[in-house]
Amino acid sequence: MNDFLYGLTGDIVTPFDPIYREARQGFNRAIQLYPLIIVYCRNKRDVSNAVIWARKHGVPIRLRSGGHNYEGYSNGDCTLVIDISRMNDMNINSCLNLLTVQSGVTNKQVYEFVASEGYPFPGGTCPTVGVSGYTLGGGWGLSCRNFGLGCDSLKEIELINYEGAVIKADRENHSDLFWACQGAGGGNFGVIVTMTFQLPPKINHVTLIEIDYLNVDSSEQKKFLSLWQEWLKTADPRITLISRIYNSVDDGLAMLVRGIFYGKPQEAKQMMTDFLSLKGAEYSIEYMTFLEAVTIIGSFYPPYEKFQSVSRFVLRDFTCAEQSELVDLISERPQGSVFAGISMYALGGRVSEIGTDDTAFYYRNANYIIWLETIWEESRYAKDNKEWINTQFPYLEAVTSGSYVNFPYGRLPDYLEEYYGNHANVLKKIKIKYDPFNVFSFPQGIGRSECSDKTAVYFHKTPLNNEENRIDLPSDTNHRGFRYVSKRNNTVV
Ligand SMILES: Cc1cc2nc3c(=O)[nH]c(=O)nc-3n(C[C@H](O)[C@H](O)[C@H](O)COP(=O)(O)OP(=O)(O)OC[C@H]3O[C@@H](n4cnc5c(N)ncnc54)[C@H](O)[C@@H]3O)c2cc1C
Repeated sequence: MNDFLYGLTGDIVTPFDPIYREARQGFNRAIQLYPLIIVYCRNKRDVSNAVIWARKHGVPIRLRSGGHNYEGYSNGDCTLVIDISRMNDMNINSCLNLLTVQSGVTNKQVYEFVASEGYPFPGGTCPTVGVSGYTLGGGWGLSCRNFGLGCDSLKEIELINYEGAVIKADRENHSDLFWACQGAGGGNFGVIVTMTFQLPPKINHVTLIEIDYLNVDSSEQKKFLSLWQEWLKTADPRITLISRIYNSVDDGLAMLVRGIFYGKPQEAKQMMTDFLSLKGAEYSIEYMTFLEAVTIIGSFYPPYEKFQSVSRFVLRDFTCAEQSELVDLISERPQGSVFAGISMYALGGRVSEIGTDDTAFYYRNANYIIWLETIWEESRYAKDNKEWINTQFPYLEAVTSGSYVNFPYGRLPDYLEEYYGNHANVLKKIKIKYDPFNVFSFPQGIGRSECSDKTAVYFHKTPLNNEENRIDLPSDTNHRGFRYVSKRNNTVV
């Protein structure tokens, strides 16, 4: 084995190492994959060596940063996982308001770093999501209507290509590659090792909005959907919300809203009047630092979950009948599900001011992203829950357009068109130009994915029986991503 590993540098984990069992896991524990080797890279040289090594041995590559891909595409059976999560240096050029990071940084690390200099950042909601995976797929966050998607702030990348060489790309140099990485870069063209972002103007305080509605019924969920789509049409671009109707073991039928407003709480309260007057609203609208706000939002995420989901873009209003159908989708949870919900992520504002062809992110004109999800705890219910999503999907598909690549669904029939719309063909050409041998591939990649026979010879599945393999969640795990308003006293502070 040691001869076989010759040429790989960095921290190497194989199935013979005790930490392999944990190291091979991603956020979604419903997905269990067995890579041949995981190499934790410390620098660009390690990444380059890993690419060269994998090609020499015919071992398929997977690229991993935060490990949060819903379908586990940063991992794979009998692959070399190039893990960059230990590459997390950051620095700020305060004259130019630029942030340069090594691509293994997480949302939380970036938030804390930039906030120490007084900046906000258009990152995501979950603290442990990798900024590179997030940005390369577009990057929706609670600042996006004000500052754009994560990928809209990207100024420059450094990428290790299929030959192990470094390419710098920005709007002037390798501009096609740079364009592709603003919404379609995850796992497709090479390993992005450095990213430079334009930082938004410094800001100290924002308003965090949290509203919960517990023990509601289907008609209230329907009213909520109706209000959501009306509200969004005229919403101030300084406010970005996520809203959700759900059905959970803890709360039965319920709803929630979370959001960040770049302004004062009294103004936020006025903007939210209609939501606050819906029956049962319990809320907190509070002025706090940007870091406090994103930390509260982030604190509700569990370390891992078992789930299946599908996302779509919404480009038009739902009729009354469609709203009822949507509410009905979650009126009963599948067997073993502890949470089934439909979440809505507001777009518009700055996101739609950027031209459809300015970046690879295609759905600039969508009103919002809609996301159907089920979470379960015991592995024996996996099949029921996966089938449930598959059964609900055709209805959702019929009333929506395209899917968000950062919320992927493995069973999408024409995934390239669904994720990238009319950009799919250009992306295929850019793929051939920058990765002619499809070295960077995965099941829903822009090229084709395959596992070579040569690899299978070395692949050593760890001898886990079903019982050992089952990783059930701790019973206190939060099933919704957000657990109740942080201060449930209907205050505006
Ligand atoms: C709990 C949770 C909350 C989330 N919240 C949000 C949210 O608020 N907004 C949002 O937009 N998304 C959100 N996501 C989705 C998330 O942005 C995507 O799953 C993202 O791709 C994860 O990035 P990662 O680096 O953590 O994951 P990984 O699984 O490591 O990577 C994701 C994909 O990007 C590729 N990739 C990663 N790093 C690189 C790199 N450096 N170079 C090339 N390819 C790379 C991987 O190969 C893989 O295909 C959430 C996901 C979870 C699980």
